Amino acid sequence: MADVIPLENVPLAGYSTFRCGGPARYFAEPSTGDEVASLFKWAEDKGVEVFVLGNGSNCLISDEGFDGLVIRIAKNMSELSSSETDDGRVIVTAGAGLPFARFGNYCAELSLTGAEFACGIPGSCGGAVFMNAGAYGGETKDFISRVSYWDGNNIRYIDGSECGFGYRTSLFEKMNAEGKKAVILGFEAILSKGSKEEIDALIEDLRRRRTASQPLDVPSAGSTFKRPEGFFAAKLIEEAGLKGFALDDSGAQVSPKHAGFIVNNGGRAKASDVKRLMDHVTEKVFGNSGVKLEPEVRLVGNFGG
Ligand SMILES: Cc1cc2nc3c(=O)[nH]c(=O)nc-3n(C[C@H](O)[C@H](O)[C@H](O)COP(=O)(O)OP(=O)(O)OC[C@H]3O[C@@H](n4cnc5c(N)ncnc54)[C@H](O)[C@@H]3O)c2cc1C
Repeated sequence: MADVIPLENVPLAGYSTFRCGGPARYFAEPSTGDEVASLFKWAEDKGVEVFVLGNGSNCLISDEGFDGLVIRIAKNMSELSSSETDDGRVIVTAGAGLPFARFGNYCAELSLTGAEFACGIPGSCGGAVFMNAGAYGGETKDFISRVSYWDGNNIRYIDGSECGFGYRTSLFEKMNAEGKKAVILGFEAILSKGSKEEIDALIEDLRRRRTASQPLDVPSAGSTFKRPEGFFAAKLIEEAGLKGFALDDSGAQVSPKHAGFIVNNGGRAKASDVKRLMDHVTEKVFGNSGVKLEPEVRLVGNFGG
């Protein structure tokens, strides 16, 4: 039995920035790596699958929900501390459940430069490592010096250089794709001191650029598709005449503000409406440009096919 008892039939739409999707059959928010391990054991004994959720800002959860155990790594695992190294740099230690933006702001409070871009990303620190989240020329990999994760048997600590980071991918994402267990528990980041004024000015500049170009007031999961090599997804979608496009009045729409985002107007679209629109966009862009868009958004649960 897990130390933390999973709840049953928990609605997930509120745990996804897309604001749609059905319930988790079982749901738990662990506080430690040991609790993560015992939850996996609990799921194994019950014969159900596990999905690890962070802040749900890159997930589309199916209308049927998830017929297994959702382990949400969130506020119960959100420690944050720092220590100075001999060479004057600072190591910031963050729990996987800490909001990545909080990590970015904490670095700014300490006058540390390099994590300014994190302030605008609505995921968790674990999700940022898993996806190697990045924006405006910065990437999570730039400052990660160590990651702790549970590998199905043990809690492991590996260097940033061993994390297999690439464009929106990491060792953990690859392990996940191969069906291996990898739950990120936290990271250490190493950053240098900079000018507080310049750091604050950069954060403000990035915030302004984001607000001007992205539909931040409408539910979405950010960029729906990955950037195909040599292209920009938003530009390809726009060139296919799909900026602002909707298949119907479900609420799912290609954002009129940023073609790279599919939005859920009023939070009334179902996950299946969003998925239908994603498929339509993929098909039309391929027809128009010959480029096959790949989703950046992770599909959780059953979407048929
Ligand atoms: C308005 C908006 C703007 C965005 N802008 C950006 C941007 O500029 N750049 C960018 O890169 N992304 C952006 N995103 C997407 C998203 O915020 C990032 O991908 C983020 O890193 C996802 O973190 P999360 O905690 O929400 O992950 P989730 O959506 O919860 O999960 C994403 C994947 O990570 C896995 N995962 C999460 N936590 C863990 C963990 N602890 N251990 C193992 N696996 C885990 C999940 O299983 C899932 O496969 C944006 C999203 C929105 C809504």
